Amino acid sequence: MALTKDDIITLPNPHLREKSRRVGYINLEIRRVVEDMISATLSWDDSREHEVGVALAAIQIDQPYRIVVVRNDFDNKKDRTFGVFINPEITKLEGELSEDYEGCLSVPDIYGKVKRYSKVRVKATSLDGQPLRITADGFLARIFQHEIDHLNGMMFVDHIKDDPEAFYRLETDGKLKALDYASIKEDLVLWQ
Ligand code: ZN
Repeated sequence: MALTKDDIITLPNPHLREKSRRVGYINLEIRRVVEDMISATLSWDDSREHEVGVALAAIQIDQPYRIVVVRNDFDNKKDRTFGVFINPEITKLEGELSEDYEGCLSVPDIYGKVKRYSKVRVKATSLDGQPLRITADGFLARIFQHEIDHLNGMMFVDHIKDDPEAFYRLETDGKLKALDYASIKEDLVLWQ
């Protein structure tokens, strides 16, 4: 059975704050995890009118492996293909820190304004076991920083927990509305 959006774990699940382990040999189990990550992301995507499921880390389906999938065309909900990055590592952070809205499939409906580097260099291994080197900028650079954080047990909300202006909620009409910081600070789901 293919995994669905209901298999995506969300805060306060403590597994999301644990470090994932490196993938050794890319065997059948690893390929299965990758298929499950993609089907869960697409199922989530199909259920959300105003959002695109752009990427997922394996821990988000409760598999503590250093694996990330990233949509090949994240501006296009119709494109359902993904790049697969095994053991991805940021080798260089470049450019400037810039702030933009960021969401996460494991933090439903909450968005945050998070500072990220505008350019990153990433090395990883492909599903075929080949070395990959990527230079990413703009939104793709943001995606890699967000996803590689997941492999280290870091959530986007952890970056902005002291910023009273950074939190937003996605309303049913697809607009982002600023959230009251006092209620965010007391929201144990986020900080447990
Ligand atoms: Zn995320």
